Amino acid sequence: MNFNFDNYFFGKTQRNEFSDNDSCRMAAFFVQDGRCYVTGMTLRSGERQLHHRLPKSKGGKDTPENLIFLESRVHRMVHTNNYDEYWTLEKELNLTDAQSKMVEQLRYEAGSYFYV
Ligand SMILES: [Zn+2]
Repeated sequence: MNFNFDNYFFGKTQRNEFSDNDSCRMAAFFVQDGRCYVTGMTLRSGERQLHHRLPKSKGGKDTPENLIFLESRVHRMVHTNNYDEYWTLEKELNLTDAQSKMVEQLRYEAGSYFYV
């Protein structure tokens, strides 16, 4: 999911129409201070994607505990089924061992797997 937080927040502020889900998304954003959960890099709006740690298809909710922001390439690493793509992105992002373990944990939570 590509989530443009800036436009979203601004439009809703003007119309004063925040729902509980909006509040949770904002909480997730502010807790992370606009940074990628894995790399810690500050994210521009176009690079920022909202990820459900437990997928909605498995009962995951729009709560601050279940929502994290990821850089788009890290998000791709979490969901891809393509092993070559995964390693290409890992090399490109130059992840540390600890960051790679975080991605592996997120893949496990998401139920991601590689086609062999
Ligand atoms: Zn995701």
